[in-house]
Amino acid sequence: MKRQQQIIGLISAGLIFPVICFVYSVKAQIVNQKNQAANYVLSQSAAERIVKKVLRTSPVIDGHNDLFVHFVGCQDCPKDLADYPIDVKTKGQTDIPRWRKGGVGGQLLSVDGASEEPKVEKYLEALDLLFRLQHAYPLDLEIVGTAKDTRRAMRAGKIALIPSLEGAVILENNLAMLRNYYRLGLRSVTFAYETNDLADGSDDKPKHNGISSFGKEIVKEMNRLGIMIDMSHISAKAMHDILDVSQAPVIFSHSNARAICEVNRNVPDDVLNRLKVNRGIIMLTFVPYFTTNEFSKWMKAGDDFYYDLKKKFPDDKAKVSAGIKKWETDNPAPVVTVSDIADHFDYVKKLIGVDYIGMAGDYDGIAFTITGMEDVSSYPKLLIELARRGWTEKELKKITGENFLRVFEEVEEKSLTLQKQYPPSLRKFSDKK
Ligand SMILES: [Zn+2]
Repeated sequence: MKRQQQIIGLISAGLIFPVICFVYSVKAQIVNQKNQAANYVLSQSAAERIVKKVLRTSPVIDGHNDLFVHFVGCQDCPKDLADYPIDVKTKGQTDIPRWRKGGVGGQLLSVDGASEEPKVEKYLEALDLLFRLQHAYPLDLEIVGTAKDTRRAMRAGKIALIPSLEGAVILENNLAMLRNYYRLGLRSVTFAYETNDLADGSDDKPKHNGISSFGKEIVKEMNRLGIMIDMSHISAKAMHDILDVSQAPVIFSHSNARAICEVNRNVPDDVLNRLKVNRGIIMLTFVPYFTTNEFSKWMKAGDDFYYDLKKKFPDDKAKVSAGIKKWETDNPAPVVTVSDIADHFDYVKKLIGVDYIGMAGDYDGIAFTITGMEDVSSYPKLLIELARRGWTEKELKKITGENFLRVFEEVEEKSLTLQKQYPPSLRKFSDKK
């Protein structure tokens, strides 16, 4: 989201911390009131014991992380590993010590060249950065390409990095490029971040009424290669279209339930029901404006204000920044609690069962966080809340990592079958069909 990026830029520059601190200072009371409302069946200490046990054998595999924003595409931020070491506490939301504290053993990491236009060169540089990260922290990080490797890396005490791409536009509608990126490690692709030639984005005017004919071809080729199809960020019609075509389970790398928070980025019930049939996974995300209607309304009002300001002062960034800062002081962000995000987990479990749920922090991609869940060390807090609500040890193990590994495995198995059924697609985007 564009205003988000602007806000993240402001946080890096230290401009809006005063606002955030002010907001947090009034939050504690409301958080307590909300949490008391939940019906707990376990004490805090009993829940903590269960969660510790869960994380020992089934570490968290998170669906989406934007660590790369600190290295590429940002104006004043560090440009390389030495400028932003991640084996110590960073100024962002992600680093190795806090991943460890959060019980994280695997991460679908968004490898992003962050260029305005899709550029092969930028994306290859980003992939190079990923491999240099692994080289810089060999005891902590390992790039993996299979579910089996993920399990092995986690057993060896490492954090398994599964390279993902947020927005297929980088593929430049070229199936050979998709295959080459697979060879370089790519395992998951968000079909469209905004509307592209393949599919309609969640908040854009429909261009294809779902996915395009070439989009269907990409689904087939991703199925054949064993690349996970990520349906976060696309329109509901595009979700249905992909579910019509995909022969392998699909994922939502970071989305919530639309029945609870009514934004287009979230997933409607009819799609969730089909996701169960597809045997895919929704990795529920800790993004406040996908969590409560109150917060998403506040966010929209802020966005409207921001775009008006930009129209008024197109060449004056300082004025726009000062304007948002004042708006946020006058209109403090609504509180979103651990209990609010736990409600999405309860809801989806009730609707389609526990086997299709995972977790996604979207850390370093969000300027606003759930109170008490400010960084990658936060997963146990949510797991404790769920345990207190009655989620069993077995259920918690499924949502931390087992469900995702099952999907990863099934995507691989399907690809092996499909490779025997049809050859690599040589279709060009320009081919008429
Ligand atoms: Zn995203």
